[in-house]
Amino acid sequence: MPQQHTDEALIQLDKELLWHPYTSMSHPAPHFLVKKAQGSRITLSDGKELIDGMSSWWSVIHGYSHPVINNAMKSQIDDFSHVMFGGLTHEPAIKLAEKLSDITPHGLSRVFFSDSGSVSVEVALKMAIQYWHSSGRPNKKKFITPRNGYHGDTFAAMSVCDPINGMHGLFEGALTKQHFIPSPPTGINTPVDEDYLTEVRQIIEKTHLEVAGLIIEPVVQNAGGMRFYNPLYLDRMKLLCEEFDLLLIFDEIATGFGRTGKMFASDHCNISPDIMCVGKALTGGYITLAATITNDKVALGISDKGGVFMHGPTFMGNPLACSAANASLSLLSSYDLTSRIQTIESKLTESLKRCRSLANVADVRCLGAIGVVELTSPVNQQQIQPLFVEQGVWVRPFGKLIYLMPPYIISNEDLETLGNAIYNVTKSLAYNTKN
Ligand code: PMP
Repeated sequence: MPQQHTDEALIQLDKELLWHPYTSMSHPAPHFLVKKAQGSRITLSDGKELIDGMSSWWSVIHGYSHPVINNAMKSQIDDFSHVMFGGLTHEPAIKLAEKLSDITPHGLSRVFFSDSGSVSVEVALKMAIQYWHSSGRPNKKKFITPRNGYHGDTFAAMSVCDPINGMHGLFEGALTKQHFIPSPPTGINTPVDEDYLTEVRQIIEKTHLEVAGLIIEPVVQNAGGMRFYNPLYLDRMKLLCEEFDLLLIFDEIATGFGRTGKMFASDHCNISPDIMCVGKALTGGYITLAATITNDKVALGISDKGGVFMHGPTFMGNPLACSAANASLSLLSSYDLTSRIQTIESKLTESLKRCRSLANVADVRCLGAIGVVELTSPVNQQQIQPLFVEQGVWVRPFGKLIYLMPPYIISNEDLETLGNAIYNVTKSLAYNTKN
């Protein structure tokens, strides 16, 4: 008989045994024990229900325990949960590749599945390096990327993260030194700054002979500061990439599948990247899966003269994960995604706007199903987290940012409660207001 633990004992064991993201083992942060999650609600062990404002790090877009995805996975389990992808293939992966090639920007049709967002970035960087190697330009091995970017926690991914947030100091000497351009000026509608583009051009001019590609999060720089920028910068970067022989890589891991109001953030501009990474919401946040999708130029370039792409994870194309992704994509195409996200954007804008009056708030901004309250100084996460739980919401701020990325099934009432909770907690942190 397995030993039964009380909830208190489980929490104690968690502290002793488990490492959580970005935490210390000697000073473990408090973690709340979850018993159930359904729709937009997370239920804790003490029975408290929290309205989910995070979609579990931006992935659970249809809410928890959705019957369509549940059934798709159950039915796949009864057939087979996994088979190796070397030498074998299966319908869930083939169908998913077909769907991804249909919905991603023009020309992206060659799909490589991997286990997580960070790995899909590693794969993208390897594809770019291999492409130039096959093209007889083996010196092109580095990358150009904006500051304030975030692309994951594995080594090559860390090397293209913002040098300050991205742990470059800690891993000095272990990370490849890449070339950084300033981050695109903020403001989705702010006119393009030609001086910025001139600076980018100068950096590319100096470095392009050793650079394989430019990697960027389109339209929103996410974990590096929730910064929104004008999509026209991407059109201009594409031109620079063409002029200087760089591959353009879009990291859509956070922005993909509707989050910014279009299926992909790339759809806000008129160009296709050479390589695109997707993950997170790909499976509706059910199970880990990512994809790196490229065009014929890169795929056939790598394969030229008998070349093969040198990557092949054990769980590549996992059928369970692919079946969840197929169900999630069917759900996304079953309603008017654009108008759904517009409704969320309007409600987020309305429910967060009064935070502007607080003295400790520097900015409030919304785009699609992303709402951000930027404070004047960083929050103490351990102090602020229980305050949100007390308010009956699940919101997890970082740095100066308190933000919402709710599941798309969220109701207007829940969005209002989330906005009120952010206002109340932010106000309780402020000593006085501007008025
Ligand atoms: N790229 C971006 C833009 C991300 O937001 C993230 C995760 N927050 C990653 C890559 C890494 O994905 P994962 O955590 O699945 O490795």
